[in-house]
Parts: sequence; structure tokens; C-alpha cells
Amino acid sequence: MNEDQFDALQSAAEAGIDTETLTVRTDGETYDFVVPEASYTGLSDDELHAAARRHREYVTEWYFWTEVAPEPAQRRAFIRWVEQADDQSVPERRERLQEGIRREWGQLEIQVKLAEAGRRVYQLHHIDDSDERVEDLTVHTDPHEAREIRKSDEDGRYRPLSTAPTLRRGWAFVDLTPAALVETIETFYPATIANWHREQEGELDVTHWHDAVTRQTGIYGVVETWDRGEGTDHVEWVAEACCADSQCLKRREWEYDEETPLDADGGDGTFPCREPCSLVVSAARKWTRIDAEESRTYEFELTPSEKEQLEELIDAVADGRTEEIREADFSDGANRWRARFLRAKLFEDGNLDGVPTGDGGAAEGDH
Ligand code: SF4
Repeated sequence: MNEDQFDALQSAAEAGIDTETLTVRTDGETYDFVVPEASYTGLSDDELHAAARRHREYVTEWYFWTEVAPEPAQRRAFIRWVEQADDQSVPERRERLQEGIRREWGQLEIQVKLAEAGRRVYQLHHIDDSDERVEDLTVHTDPHEAREIRKSDEDGRYRPLSTAPTLRRGWAFVDLTPAALVETIETFYPATIANWHREQEGELDVTHWHDAVTRQTGIYGVVETWDRGEGTDHVEWVAEACCADSQCLKRREWEYDEETPLDADGGDGTFPCREPCSLVVSAARKWTRIDAEESRTYEFELTPSEKEQLEELIDAVADGRTEEIREADFSDGANRWRARFLRAKLFEDGNLDGVPTGDGGAAEGDH
């Protein structure tokens, strides 16, 4: 405890400090000072100072949460969540903080340690870099620099969805204050802390699919198409394709509408998704046109292995694992040489088995 903290304690005592772990009151002459293990009454200024020093962990904790931890409530609640402040006593928490606490938020790992006079110092890095030495990472201290990192994946490709599990590695934000930590996380994953907090408070306002799409001027027809006699199948497919944990780290809380939940798994993310994002709406809009086509019957000659290979190819592309398939692994249907062999054998003038697509082909611009 430093003198600034004691001065703050003494002046706050005039209005009264009354928290779960520290109570300080004054009648203008003497002080009462209460912590979980001890209770003192009628203290002089010097005796209050001595008691505050003896139980300094409670004073520095009080100071941290009233003077240092960031406002508003959602930010403060997040900082408490990081160190599981609501689940442990002050001595237990401080012991853990001295060793360092690690928490995950999407693909981010937060590390917090106790610093001088009860302050905290935070570090943030990619979850897969948790065993890397900071000296081996590119070090940042300005939260705004997270914007540049967020923009592209490991291969330099643009990331249109900030919560896609494709955050690149190799960086660390160090020496962050609580406010800077929150700001950095909000730059990586906008609105996730606010929505998480709303959910904690039972106040998450969810906009379901039907309302979200109806609200988009000019595409009401999309809703009509997607609703036509098919129940919610199309929306199920969209949610399954886009909102699974492998594609997005948010936990989908929106459904078709208030009364019609979707069967597609919403995921296990720490932070919720409260409405269909613009990327999903834009993809869905495009797929609606494809899905509005009349189906036709085609006849292809395929061996059973070729049929299975096509299925494996679609699976591999959908799961993003084509890069992982070894060149010499010819047992995998999505192996590049096997795919090229299939194309050499089955394609004629770009058509599968030489069968033309037919009048008009696929919907314009959708393939
Ligand atoms: S709509 Fe789906 S993909 Fe978009 S942010 Fe929400 S959970 Fe993620």
C-alpha cells in the first residue's frame, strides 16, 4: 500500500466504504476498519494507518477496483472475469495473480500478473503462442495496432469476419493496463465484451433471422423465397455452414424467429452472437438465388469409388483441409493428384462426364 492509496482510503471513509471485503467508516473523530479476518473500532489516524498497512491486500484491492479498473460496468466485469474475482477470496486471488492467471477469449490468451501496489499488468497473444517467449514475438503496446493484425490471416488473406478462427500468430501486446487490455480485445473482436456482459446480466437483445433479414431494405423477397414451403431448411443450412465453431468463434444465439429454434449447433464460444452478421446475410442472399433454381435430373456414370471421392472432395473443401493432405496420400479422395486424375478421366469440355449443364446454366454470377 502506498501513501496515495491510504489518502484515498481516508477520504473515501468520510462517505463510508462498504464492500464485501473492506468496510471503513468514520464519525469524524475515529475510524472503524473491518476486513474478513479482523475488525477494529475507534481508531485514530495513526491506528487506521497501521491497520491499513497490516491488511494492505484488502486496501490495495479496494483501490484497484474503485480507482484503476476501467469503467463502464461491462469493462470492469470483464476484468473481474479475467481473474475470476467473484469466485475467490482476496488472499487466494492475490496468490494466483502472483503466479499469473491465463484466460482464453476466442483465439486470444490473456495473462495477468500482480504488479506493484496491487496493480495488474496484462499481456495478450495468440492462444497458440502461449509457450513462445515474448522476445520471439513482435511486441506491441498500442491497442490500435490490433486492427492491422486482425485484417489478414497467416497467408496474408483478408479476414472479412473478425471472429473467424483464423487470427494470425507471432505478436504480443505487453504491459497493458486494464483499460488498454479491454481496448485491445475490443479491437480484435468488436462488441464481444459488451454482448458477453449483456448476456451475463440477462439483457442480451437477440435479433432473430426473420426479423434481421426483413429489416434489410430491398431483400424482403429473399425471406419469401427462403420461407417457401420448406420450413427453415435454408436457414438451417446457412447456420450450419457459417456459424459452426470451425468458422466463427461466436456462439450463435439467434434462431429463425422467437418461436422457431434451429437444429444447427450454435457452438460453444465464450461470447454470444446476437444477430446474423452482414457476411452471413450477404452469403445467404447469394445462395438464395442458387437455391431458387429448378432442379433437373442428370445422368452420370461413376464408379462407387468416384462417387465417394466427390463426397470426400466436398468435405475437404468445406472443412478447409485441402492444404493438409499430403501429396503422396492417394487414399484421400481430396488428394490433388487423385482430383486431377478424376478430372482427366471424367471431364469433357469442362463438363462432368461430358454431360452439359443445359439451357441457361447455373444462376448468373453464383458460381
Ligand atoms: S452470424 Fe454466424 S458467422 Fe456471423 S458472427 Fe454470428 S455466429 Fe458468427
